[in-house]
Amino acid sequence: MPHLQRQQKTTIFRLRTGHCRLRAHLYRLGVSHTPDCSCETGPQTPEHILQSCPLYQDARTQHWPHGATLAEKLWGTKQDLDTTTNFITHIRLEI
Ligand SMILES: [Zn+2]
Repeated sequence: MPHLQRQQKTTIFRLRTGHCRLRAHLYRLGVSHTPDCSCETGPQTPEHILQSCPLYQDARTQHWPHGATLAEKLWGTKQDLDTTTNFITHIRLEI
């Protein structure tokens, strides 16, 4: 991940591995009482946040007006990864 700032690298790494502060992982660790997102449409995973969570639909459309695959968001170009970390910052989600 060249040319990304340290915090960006951390964010992308956590999203790629799923080892993060999202509920699906915390639940596996026994830290959260539920794996489900507060939107109640599924487990709170990186894919859910990036691709389908209705809570972040407006921000998602703003950052990816033409849509993008999960692979592009996590394994794409520097510009792709910048967009992903900007999205996470924008939605103020601790991951
Ligand atoms: Zn959700």
